[in-house]
Amino acid sequence: MSTQLPNYINGEWSRSGASESLPIVNPATAEVIATMPLSPVTEVNSAVHAASVALKGWRQTPASERVQYLFKFKSLLEDNLDSLARTVTNECGKTYAEAAGEVRRGIENVEVACGIPMLLQGVFSEDIARGIDEVMIRQPVGVVAAITPFNFPGMIPLWFLPYAIACGNTFVLKPSDKTPMTAQQLVDLLAQTGLPKGVVDLVNGTKETVEALVDHPTVRAVSFVGSTPVAKYVYARAAANGKRAQCQGGAKNPLIVLPDADMEQVTRLAAESAFGCAGQRCLASSLAITVGEARSTFTAAMTEEAQSRKVGYGLNEGVEMGPVIRPESKVRIEQLIQQGVEEGAKLVVDGRAVQIRGYEAGYFLKPTILDGVAPDSQIARTEIFGPVLGLMHAKDIDEAIALVNHHHYGNMVCLFTRSGAAARKFRYEAQVGNIGINVGVAAPMAFFPFSGWKDSFFGDLHGQGRDAVEFYTEKKVVVERWL
Ligand code: NAD
Repeated sequence: MSTQLPNYINGEWSRSGASESLPIVNPATAEVIATMPLSPVTEVNSAVHAASVALKGWRQTPASERVQYLFKFKSLLEDNLDSLARTVTNECGKTYAEAAGEVRRGIENVEVACGIPMLLQGVFSEDIARGIDEVMIRQPVGVVAAITPFNFPGMIPLWFLPYAIACGNTFVLKPSDKTPMTAQQLVDLLAQTGLPKGVVDLVNGTKETVEALVDHPTVRAVSFVGSTPVAKYVYARAAANGKRAQCQGGAKNPLIVLPDADMEQVTRLAAESAFGCAGQRCLASSLAITVGEARSTFTAAMTEEAQSRKVGYGLNEGVEMGPVIRPESKVRIEQLIQQGVEEGAKLVVDGRAVQIRGYEAGYFLKPTILDGVAPDSQIARTEIFGPVLGLMHAKDIDEAIALVNHHHYGNMVCLFTRSGAAARKFRYEAQVGNIGINVGVAAPMAFFPFSGWKDSFFGDLHGQGRDAVEFYTEKKVVVERWL
């Protein structure tokens, strides 16, 4: 019998009274490793109530004291990195190295949030008029919620949680309904720091749980990461309820290769970007646009990379790519590959019909490459979220940038070149929020915003760093006359 995952409400792990639950499955083995309750609205209400009761004492706790819990949390995360990474691999499928890497990226956010007392400083102007001073102070927003996706269960909750609580808010987390186990471990470690009860709460569930959080009048701000249709929906619903919202959505990220690029470097980094995490990464390069004579060398080198990638269970030695998350995802990806062929693209490497010895039940695909993808085809427009790279070709950098700007997503784009002038032009003209130059996955460090554009982001303030402080605080301006 697999364990039903508990909720964390008011400082205690409690069994949900949910009448329905979902199986949590290891995608490499298809084994059910836990069940996750679809928590009813009453449990969301209890979590929000606990967070609202905790708010008064927490916002009065000096920021310098609040971050002491985060220093302890960081240390516990480091001590438990191995176990966290194993949980990520087992519920999400990615390799151990990828899982450990994402936990490290999560820890970086905790580190940045430890410095929040300085970022929380206000602004003071003396004598704005005779004898009158003016001050701007930052105050917490209140009870805030975060809803996170399956593909980075260790990192994405940490894009929000540390900043929210360091700024004096209390926080309700609704983790992914496919990978909720890592979040349980994160909250368990946080509880070991002695964090006052109610400051962080966790409720499991899916659509109904999310709606209950987004509709709850006490929840003042919502952070969401997931697919574009749900991001748009959550953003609209939160806005209609008068809340702040930052909703990060899906992506289709191009990578441009100019003929003067270092082809050995490009191939290594492009393969990592397209096939790392089995392509289930919002910053995965899923389209490559070669310019001029880069076409033949890049296509040949990528074909070799794709065919040689070792696929298997992420905890096994030497494995470079794990499975995709669910059987339905595998079927959807296979159908999209077929659609690409029907739209006229050439299947250069076909990663379908894979069996991994010892893991026959797992949801595996191998890397796939489609050549000659047309800019307006479904395969070019749709986020596949699997290890599939589409190739396009352009005559010059202007045409390549025009293809990038034509796309409705705007999460990331990378350029490979040795030319400073081309790099500058690209940085200047590309209408995308996260830009890489001779870098395959341009993931912003925690002290930079995660800057998606267009259909990849709905909201005004991005996550991480200073933007997180803006999002999780309200500015109050006070004019004072004392003379
Ligand atoms: P998803 O949209 O299916 O789910 C995200 C969250 O929303 C989960 O917690 C889920 O329980 C909840 N949810 C699902 N359906 C809902 C509904 N109808 N109403 C309300 N809530 C709902 O996304 P996913 O499959 O877990 O994650 C993959 C997606 O996330 C991809 O599109 C990927 O590009 C995107 N993503 C984006 C970023 C980014 O920074 N832009 C980062 C990681 C992942």
